[in-house]
Amino acid sequence: MNRTTSEKLYAEALEHIVGGVNSPSRSYAAVGGGAAVFMKKGKGAYFWDEDGNRYIDYLAAYGPIITGFAHPHITEAIKKQAELGVLYGTPTTLETDLAVMLKKAIPSLDKVRFTNSGTESVMTTVRVARAYTGRKIILKFAGSYHGHFDLVLVAAGSGPSTLGSPDSAGVTESTAHEVVTVPFNNVDTLQQAFDKWGSDIAGVLVEPIVGNFGMVMPRPGFLEAINEIAHQAGSVVIYDEVITNFRFMYGGAQNYLGVTPDLTAMGKIIGGGLPIGAYGGKKEIMDEVAPLGPAYQAGTMAGNPLSMASGIACLEVLQTPGIYEKMDHLGKKLEDGIQAINEKYQLSIAINRIGGAMTLYFSDHEVTNYEEAKATDSEMFGRFFKYMLEKGVNLAPSKYEAWFLTTEHSEKDIDDTLEAAEYAFSQLANS
Ligand code: PMP
Repeated sequence: MNRTTSEKLYAEALEHIVGGVNSPSRSYAAVGGGAAVFMKKGKGAYFWDEDGNRYIDYLAAYGPIITGFAHPHITEAIKKQAELGVLYGTPTTLETDLAVMLKKAIPSLDKVRFTNSGTESVMTTVRVARAYTGRKIILKFAGSYHGHFDLVLVAAGSGPSTLGSPDSAGVTESTAHEVVTVPFNNVDTLQQAFDKWGSDIAGVLVEPIVGNFGMVMPRPGFLEAINEIAHQAGSVVIYDEVITNFRFMYGGAQNYLGVTPDLTAMGKIIGGGLPIGAYGGKKEIMDEVAPLGPAYQAGTMAGNPLSMASGIACLEVLQTPGIYEKMDHLGKKLEDGIQAINEKYQLSIAINRIGGAMTLYFSDHEVTNYEEAKATDSEMFGRFFKYMLEKGVNLAPSKYEAWFLTTEHSEKDIDDTLEAAEYAFSQLANS
């Protein structure tokens, strides 16, 4: 496959844009380097690069593109709104309409607010939880990504009784000392952290189904234990559903699993591919937010008409009967197909799949937490990624990301993907 134009464009981008990319995960640093492919257009489950090569896509732009590229219903809604003006700085009915759709789909949301990104949404839920409780410490889980504000760029300490340390230059020790990080899926360490810090913990921040060290399900009872332990200590439970909302069903992972947080941060899918974030939850907590309460959050672009129109159109598409069943069916076909191929090659693999979201780890053990995800084979994944790309299948360039099915993938796309995987496995087995 000839990608010389992409290589040239990437070299040029490196001259002008830090690292050639506007979000580090878009570089190929985690898969052994090389020029990131420049895409030119997308339609449905495919996109085409600057050299004219076609790829079946499973990146879905890190999640938002669940209805495929340039879905006609969403494109039409964006066009229609663009002609009416893209930003007014006043309320519009679109904001109320999307808020009502979210509330209907996710009953724990008494009230919502829109922001421009997942980061902003999570950041604000943390502020609101602190305002509501008058406490400082946030407890989170190792390996989860919650955006790029200081507080969540804090690495775990050496155990549940130690505070964190900065995980990025520019994050201060004092910020790190406001965070406790414990392993996902482990009630004992959670309890130990609460035994030590309980009365200072404002909130527990958790992805109800993890999407950021691959897709990882909570163990049965784990989310219920978080609710019980946190609420007993007077702390707020915050779900980060930026990846998981509308991913597995029309609603959140909280609906899928039958658990209820106090606050929820959202993003990605609810904007239909345009910049968006939202947060919401219990009325008495949300009423802390300005102008009703003392916790401040604002945004020139927050709730902008284009993102609202796009989000509404996307959720309308996702109400089509059978859509989630189809993604689950194709996800299973992909998972089963890869396992069948591996009967022949006998590589060490572990697959985590929930509906249309899946992670393939090169691993001789199952993955239920970050330590186990870290211990999977990065080098094998990097080579697998490149073989798949070579055969026209685009995955996220990191072993920690998911493959996302869209409503537009077909049986044939899965067959073609499995053919590419057969090639990739044969190459990996022969070296
Ligand atoms: N939370 C989670 C769970 C995420 O996966 C992400 C983005 N990958 C974020 C927050 C941050 O969202 P954004 O990139 O829109 O700021």
